[in-house]
Parts: sequence; structure tokens; C-alpha cells
Amino acid sequence: MPHIGDLAPEEFRAAAHAAVDWIAEYLEHPDRHPVKSRVQPGEIRAALPASAPQHGESLDHMLRDVQETLLPGITHWNHPAFFAYFANSGSYPGILGELLTAALNANGMLWVTSPAVTELEETTLDWLRQLMGLGDGWFGQITDTASISTFYALAAAREAAGFDVRAQGMAGRADMPRLRVYCSEHAHSSVDKAVIALGLGHDNLVKIPADDDFRMRTDALAEAIANDLQHGHTPIAVVATVGTTSTTSIDAVPRILAIAKSFGCWVHIDAAYGGVAAIVPELRYLMDGVDSADSLVVNPHKWLFTPMDCSVLYTKRPDALKQAFALMPEYLVTRGQDEVTNLMDYGIQLGRRFRSLKLWMVMRAFGVEGIAARIRLHCELARDFAGMVHYEGGWQLMAPVPLSLVCFRYAPAGADEVEIARLNAAIMERVNAAGHAYLSHSRLNGKYTLRLAIGNIRTAREHVERVWAELRAAARDVR
Ligand SMILES: *Cc1c(COP(=O)(O)O)cnc(C)c1O
Repeated sequence: MPHIGDLAPEEFRAAAHAAVDWIAEYLEHPDRHPVKSRVQPGEIRAALPASAPQHGESLDHMLRDVQETLLPGITHWNHPAFFAYFANSGSYPGILGELLTAALNANGMLWVTSPAVTELEETTLDWLRQLMGLGDGWFGQITDTASISTFYALAAAREAAGFDVRAQGMAGRADMPRLRVYCSEHAHSSVDKAVIALGLGHDNLVKIPADDDFRMRTDALAEAIANDLQHGHTPIAVVATVGTTSTTSIDAVPRILAIAKSFGCWVHIDAAYGGVAAIVPELRYLMDGVDSADSLVVNPHKWLFTPMDCSVLYTKRPDALKQAFALMPEYLVTRGQDEVTNLMDYGIQLGRRFRSLKLWMVMRAFGVEGIAARIRLHCELARDFAGMVHYEGGWQLMAPVPLSLVCFRYAPAGADEVEIARLNAAIMERVNAAGHAYLSHSRLNGKYTLRLAIGNIRTAREHVERVWAELRAAARDVR
């Protein structure tokens, strides 16, 4: 019998082996490709048929098109010299987890619709909690990104503030003050987006200035809250960052907690990148005080070798999340529903991918030691790179290096800020265009800064040394 619209089982077996062989070959040599894609806008679309094929095509064809047509349009996050943004680094066990997830295709919207999806998520996130040195009492759930995790946390904070926004909304109410949220000027833009999407109003996100080391100034936080109270506003939440995006600065969580709690605010910790570093014993201090916070986000898809996407939201107050989101239409009612966790109660999405499987496989395959050793190595490579920059005439470090990101720039004697910005943009352009490495930039107090972010599972000392040589050569060329 012909298999209309799908493969026959024996065809699947052969095609799957071919696909896995292709993957293995690619992952052994991701450095064969330029790190940053060189295609022009529209180039990939122009190379693809405008409509779907009338007749089914073979997997051979598709793999060849992936190789020849799509690969040039891929920026290789798997490349060992991917130093831009923050790495999101997969690994073999994580990839296998994704494969099995797709095969099982379970939807864990309710406990009963696949008990293992809910219970492995609970178990895996409890493992991760322990690894990061957090205490008991945290409820975890997996989301797609830190942006959604932070949105959920602030939604819970809004409900916990006691204005019943869930039922009554915010508009047209005489009893509704401005609800205020606070974060450092270096907090991630996902906090802005959450405040916007929750209807709190972007103007009600108060950006607190940072100190010389890019950490939220806690005196300024206390002042801003007091000032808002005087104006009749209601402070509802403070977001502290453990590992900011521009510099990986670490806000003073215990002090922020003391201030925020004295005003009854929810405290959310954004540790999307930095949180997993607490798995390394000597970096445990990253989580100091965090056990008194209300919620925390950490992204295993960033620095825990788990393929996109996998973000984790922990909260001490799951009831507040439920208060914000739980709803039970008749068609989802199941017998015994109150004795189990139904993860749909804690957020917006109903359907739920089996995302914990890949994270579980990563943790099991690496072991705590394996994870800690990788993260430790990345931090060591960053410190060594910072040392090389520090001792090189004409180059500057722009921020402390507590984790695996180095902020630095070329600043030859006599050059002003405008000239320095031009030189560094040109250096970065040159290095990225050569295809052996990929860096990104930021601005710190208005100063143009290059970022070298280490986090890829394949990055070794030689890649860091090589990009340093390329950067110096580029600096000579652009002068
Ligand atoms: C990367 C990052 C985010 C956003 O992560 P997504 O998962 O892409 O939404 C938020 N906060 C910090 C500190 C980050 O480093």
C-alpha cells in the first residue's frame, strides 16, 4: 500500500539515519562555515520555490537543499568562535532529547494527557534548583524564553498587588493608582516588553541608574520608591539582574530584596544567562539571597548546553501565578484534577512540548561535574582574554569580568570617543566579515564597547587566542 503523504517505516529508518549522519558530520566541523551568515536580505527566499510542491519529494532532495540553499543563510551558533551576544549552545544529548520529544509528540497540557511530561519537568527543574544551590520551596516550569518567563513573573506580581486586574482590568477605575516596576538601567529589554504587554504602561517602568560597575544603585532604588509613594503611585515589583546583558554585572540581590520587601514589592531575579554559573561551587555566591525572592528566570538554552528553546521560571508563589492565569473550561475538566499539577494553570499556553526531556538528558550525560567543568573553563578563558587585553598597549577593558563575557575596546592614545567608536565598529566589521569569529558590541555610558562572550561548548583556548590575533591585526589595518 502506498503511504500517502508520509514515509513508509523502512524509508523513515533509512532517511533518519541519513539525517543523523548529516548532523554528526556538520557538528564535527561547524568551523568549516563562516560564523556569521553572508547572505543578503531576500537571497534565501529568492532561492526557494514560491509554492509547495504538488508531488511529494524525497528526503535526499531536502537534505541537499538544506546543505546547499539554507546553510549559507545560517549563522553558526555551533561554531567554536561564536562570541556574539550570549551563546546558546546545544550538545549531543540535548539534540537527542529534541529528537525523542518530536517522536513522542506528547502534549502535556494536563497531567493526564501525559503524566511523564509534567512529572519529568518537576523532577528536572528540582535537580536544576539543587545544582544552583537554591533552597526548598521553589515551583518551576519551563517556558520558551526568558522574555515569557519574566512576563509571567510580572503578571503574578500584578495580581499579588491586590487590585484584581484579572477581573476588572485597569482602565476606567477611580481606585487604580499607577502600578510601578523598577529595574536597573542595564536590565534586559524583556522587562520593558513585559510591562508594556501587561498594560502597566512603559512610563511606569522606572530605570534605576547603575554604579561604576554597572550594578543597580540601591540608594537610588530606595529613593525612587519613596518618591513614587509620595506621588500616590503603588510600587509592585523590582527586577534584579544576575548577569546583565551588556556586561554580566551582578546586582546586589540581598540589599535589593531588603529594600523591595520593606515596600511589599515582588522581587523577580533575571538570571537568564548568569544563573547556571551557580552550578560551579566557587560561583555559588551568585545566588546569595535569592531564596528570599519571589521568582527567578534562568535559561538552560543559553549556557547549559540545551538546544533552543528552554527557559525556566521558578517561583516561591505559584498560587499568584495561578491567580493570574488558571481557568478551567468544561472540556478540560478531568477526574482527580485537584490532586495533580496541571501546568496549564501557571501561564498562558495550553499545549506543552516535552521540553524537560532534553534538559534531563543533558544533566544526566554531563553530570554535575561535567557541567561545572565546562562553565568553569569558559570563565577561565574569559579571564585570560581579559588579561591579554589589559596588558596590550592601546586596548582597554571596559567592565569587570565576573563570568564569561569580556567588554573591551581599542582606544589608541589621542583618539576621541567618536574616533574610538569608528575604529572599533570597523574592527568588528572586519573580524566578522573574515568569517573565523563573530563578536557583537554594546555601549557603556555612551562608550562604544566590543563584547567577547564565551559560552559555546566547542570553544577552546585556541579560538580565543586566534580572535585576539585577528582583532589586533584588524586594529592595525583600520588606523
Ligand atoms: C538573553 C537574556 C534575556 C532574554 O532571553 P530570551 O530567552 O531570548 O527571551 C533576558 N535577560 C537576560 C539577562 C538575558 O541575558
